[in-house]
Amino acid sequence: MKLPRASWARAALHTHSTCSDGRLDPERVVEFYGSAGYRVVSVTDHNKVTSVSHSRVATITGTEIEVGSEKAACRYHVVILGLSEAPPQDARQSIEDLLYWSRENGCFAFIAHPYWSMLSGHDLVTVKGYHGIEVYNHGCEVEISRGYSGPHWDYALSNGTFSYGLAVDDAHRYTVDALGGWVEIDADELDPSSVLKALMEGRFYASSGVAVKSFEFSESLARVKTDGILAMKVLSGDTRGAYLSVKMLKQLALSERNVETELWEDGFRVTFGQLRVEGKLENGRFTELEVRGALPVKKFLRLELIGDADRAAWLNPVKV
Ligand SMILES: [Zn+2]
Ligand SMILES: [Zn+2]
Repeated sequence: MKLPRASWARAALHTHSTCSDGRLDPERVVEFYGSAGYRVVSVTDHNKVTSVSHSRVATITGTEIEVGSEKAACRYHVVILGLSEAPPQDARQSIEDLLYWSRENGCFAFIAHPYWSMLSGHDLVTVKGYHGIEVYNHGCEVEISRGYSGPHWDYALSNGTFSYGLAVDDAHRYTVDALGGWVEIDADELDPSSVLKALMEGRFYASSGVAVKSFEFSESLARVKTDGILAMKVLSGDTRGAYLSVKMLKQLALSERNVETELWEDGFRVTFGQLRVEGKLENGRFTELEVRGALPVKKFLRLELIGDADRAAWLNPVKV
């Protein structure tokens, strides 16, 4: 996986307007994001498709549907993008029916806020046919501290259900619950069909503040360029993975005998075991980080880039 091919366009893919329970009317929702530099917006009101257009912002039709399943104790919220009308009643009987309808209609579907919904990782494995999950939902985080669903995602990835990770606002008030989670899309053009195609192909990353200039990763190489991160988390199947922070690498270099370290003015190289980690530092943060060697991975590989406590980026997984 190597991105971007074109350039990043910021997108808000889960928002609510006065057409359901949001505070701004649809035009003002799009204008709100447009003036904050977003180039793609989807208004995803509950149970309906709100049509809205804008001269500078690409708008993608969307909706959010709440639906149950015989196999799960809690109900799912599903965001569906790229539909022309709301799913009919007979497609809303169960999540299986809804995802089947979504797939038949060529839509992009993702499971909203699994942690907020109290879904388990297993609940993400028993249903098939969705494209992604919300790894970060800003509204759920500021509301009840349940915005992060990384462990749910990893459980599903570990158990054979592959999907992408999205960050969203799920904004209703457009005060503290907005501009906190988004995706950066690498679309060829900024029209709805090109944006949907890029989403389906996983050509995007999720962010709550870390800007990723480029990334490339496989089983033997992980290379990122960012605006500055304190750590890179390598997440993989079962109990595989790695944690590479500025602090930990410095400690490792000082405390372990079998670690080779080279330091220079704005970076360092640390070699231990099968891995060689090379970082370029600015103000104590990695702006470039490269890991070479056999990465400790199994089944899948994804990277989380940590800026501060509430600032991160999530790259989409690859199968290994
Ligand atoms: Zn919801
Ligand atoms: Zn919502």
